[in-house]
Formats: sequence, structure tokens, C-alpha cells
Amino acid sequence: MYNLKELEAFVHQCKRCPLYKNRTNVVFGEGNPQADVMFIGEGPGYYEDQMGRPFVGRAGQLLDKMIESIGFKRDEVYIANIVKCRPPNNRDPHDEESEKCLDFLRWQVKIVDPIIIVCLGAVSARNIIDKNFRITQNRGVWYKRGKFNIIATYHPAALLRDESKKIDAWEDLKSVRNKYDELMDKKI
Ligand code: URA
Repeated sequence: MYNLKELEAFVHQCKRCPLYKNRTNVVFGEGNPQADVMFIGEGPGYYEDQMGRPFVGRAGQLLDKMIESIGFKRDEVYIANIVKCRPPNNRDPHDEESEKCLDFLRWQVKIVDPIIIVCLGAVSARNIIDKNFRITQNRGVWYKRGKFNIIATYHPAALLRDESKKIDAWEDLKSVRNKYDELMDKKI
């Protein structure tokens, strides 16, 4: 089995879909390789593509606050995306692009082995939980896939566009913290 460094080196060579043609950097993901909580976004935007790191733009700054609001530090969790290369003009990734890239995310999840996965936004939830996922209806609900406890909440970019969604997002984040505490209690 690969470790994260080896997998990252492999992904840096990837030309499985056309997104590689316009990338400045592959955005593999980052954080604690043994994180209990993993946040999964959609795909890199402009700043992420420039820096080769996930969630470093305005949405990323809000994600940092969201993570900290429930008592975690950014470097304690793991942050990744459905696609590792920036879609042109930040459009949603196409299904063929997501499908090709999901192999890499599956490896990342296998290696990090979190107990909780938080999908950020509909694209993430549709690829991870259910292809018909409706973020306004199904956010905040816990799903079990194998041993993973999975929940979806609004993407931080959606919260920047519509502040009224923050009330629901806060409920979802508190639910993540409660689930984490509950699962940790069981472990001891
Ligand atoms: N939006 C995402 O979905 N992922 C990032 O890494 C940055 C913005």
C-alpha cells in the first residue's frame, strides 16, 4: 500500500483527464496523515492552483474558522478535494473528471482512515454519499458507508454568497463535534 507521499508523487504525474492541461499545480490535499476528521471539497480554485494547497483562498479562510469553531486545528484534520486540478473558470467538475480522480481520493481515505468525513457542498456529497444528493434537504444527516460516518454541509463559498446559510452550517458543525466526542468516548 502507498503512503500519502508516494500517492502524491503519483498524482503529480496524472494526465487521466483534460484538467491537467491548464493546471499550475496539482492540489493533492494536506493535513494530519492520521486525522480522525476529513473535510472534502470540490476542486481547487485560482489560489489553490497557484499554491498547490487546498482551501487557501477566501473560502479556505472561512473553512479554517469553521474547523476552529468546533475545537479542531487545521493541521489536526485532513483536507482534500474531489478533483485535484482546477476546472477552468471554477466550473463544477464534469462527471468523467470526478470519476477518474475519485480513485485518488479513495486511496487518501484508505490511508488517512478517518472516522468522520465532512462533505463540503453538493458536488462533494454527490460523489461521496449519493449522486442525487440535495444539499438543502440532506445536509446535516449522518450516513454510514462501510466504517465511515459521513455528513454534508454547505460549501464555505456558498456561505460567503449567502450568510443566512450559516445558521444551518453551524448546526452541522456542532453535529460533527458531537459525533466525534461520542465516537471517541466509545473508543476508550
Ligand atoms: N473550493 C474547493 O472546493 N476546494 C478548494 O480547495 C478551494 C475552494
